[in-house]
Amino acid sequence: MPKNTPKTPLNYARANGYEKLSPAEAKKLEAVCADYLVFLGQAKTERKAHDEAVELLEAAGFQDLDGLIRGGGALKAGDKVYRSCAGKTLLAAVLGRQPLEKGLHIVGGHTDSPRLDVKQNPLYESGEMALLDTHYYGGIRKYQWVAMPLALHGVFVKPDGKKIVVEVGEEPGDPVFCITDLLPHLSADHNKKSLAESHEGENLDVLVGSVPSRDKKAKEKIKQRVLELLHERYGVVEEDFLSAELEFVPAGKPREAGIDRSLIIGYGQDDRVCAYTALRALLDLPGTGRKEIRPAGPGGTSDTAGTPEFTACVLLCDKEEIGSVGATGMHANFFENTVAEMLALCGGPYSELVLKRALESSWMLSADVNALFDPLFAGVSEKKNAALLNQGTCLTKYTGSRGKSGASDASAEFIAQIRRIFARAGVVWQAAELGKVDQGGGGTIAYLMARYGMSVVDCGVALLSMHAPWEVSGKFDVYMTYKGFLAFLKDSRGAR
Ligand code: MN
Ligand code: MN
Repeated sequence: MPKNTPKTPLNYARANGYEKLSPAEAKKLEAVCADYLVFLGQAKTERKAHDEAVELLEAAGFQDLDGLIRGGGALKAGDKVYRSCAGKTLLAAVLGRQPLEKGLHIVGGHTDSPRLDVKQNPLYESGEMALLDTHYYGGIRKYQWVAMPLALHGVFVKPDGKKIVVEVGEEPGDPVFCITDLLPHLSADHNKKSLAESHEGENLDVLVGSVPSRDKKAKEKIKQRVLELLHERYGVVEEDFLSAELEFVPAGKPREAGIDRSLIIGYGQDDRVCAYTALRALLDLPGTGRKEIRPAGPGGTSDTAGTPEFTACVLLCDKEEIGSVGATGMHANFFENTVAEMLALCGGPYSELVLKRALESSWMLSADVNALFDPLFAGVSEKKNAALLNQGTCLTKYTGSRGKSGASDASAEFIAQIRRIFARAGVVWQAAELGKVDQGGGGTIAYLMARYGMSVVDCGVALLSMHAPWEVSGKFDVYMTYKGFLAFLKDSRGAR
């Protein structure tokens, strides 16, 4: 190398991260990934991800913000709070030393994943079978969801408000469900269809039973028997499907993959891998576990040791996969409203101007997945700008499609700050876009947060087989994403 050639910037690797991984760090990597596997195995739906996250937050001493609001409480630096939106979307925060007006450091991912939702009038009988009709949710390649074991998760809500939780297919002794597929012997005509047409969305119906009821008056005895079993087990009747949210997802737990155990295969890693690493980073902030009161600083305020300079905030959002719409999606005002509530609890007169300043001054990592370069489909990527396995967390300056349409293009200035943060913390990272130009594209919640004028860039784990029933991540990349989120939440913008 000529003498004046600049060295590759620290940690911007373009090399397999395992080559430089210390034994101590390898141990941390395994610990974080083991905990992630447990979370992923529990969080099979957005509701379950929310509940798992609340459990972890409460165990770490985070308080329900709505309880504080009702009780007329107050917030100060070092306080840990969370707020739920309809049991699906969640915000958690550690109040920083700086006032909220100076901005928050936000890591926001999503917990909804592609799946098959049960329709409103779903149950029917045909060919001596009972089936449940579904409507797929999110971008799926339909042929991937047939002929495999499915689990059923969700809730029935009775008109009196009683909620009945359903989970079938996850425990070893549970039955599972499936969508049938055509045998090769009879697929001469079917094989001529294009991949996009091979399995119609309307035909993704799930086989749920085949034994007839003993009720002699019943017209459709097999359907009747399914209803009898549902009534026995959950106390529901057919009409209760009208106020239910039931989701079919791939049955079974995520697990390690590869002879070297370097990979994780599991359902819903888009985007629960970023949701978990973000949540874990917040929980692992120094000071979140202990409460040491520091003497009053120059500003005259006392706060806790290890408290982040800026309020550290993690968002786990619903409905990203269908455009972030609806009351629990990021198009809604939950985030903004919650920051307003926090401001009101921080004392001082609340004003909309202060809220706007808080939002505009914020920094955000929009925590979502990217696509890994796959040698089996090399043609869809441009390798210099594709994420590579084991090369660390992936920073995506812009998403969108065609001519960056729909992209929230992060500024060079903000990316420079992230480079500084990652370099200082030893975070191995890579820059990548999703596929080669004009191949397709995608989006995240980044553009919705950018509306406030805050600085935001996409950052997360790159996956293989994204949106397939079983997605694949690399443990090294999962760990570096956690490490990157932690460094970002801790950062004091160069002030300290
Ligand atoms: Mn995603
Ligand atoms: Mn997605």
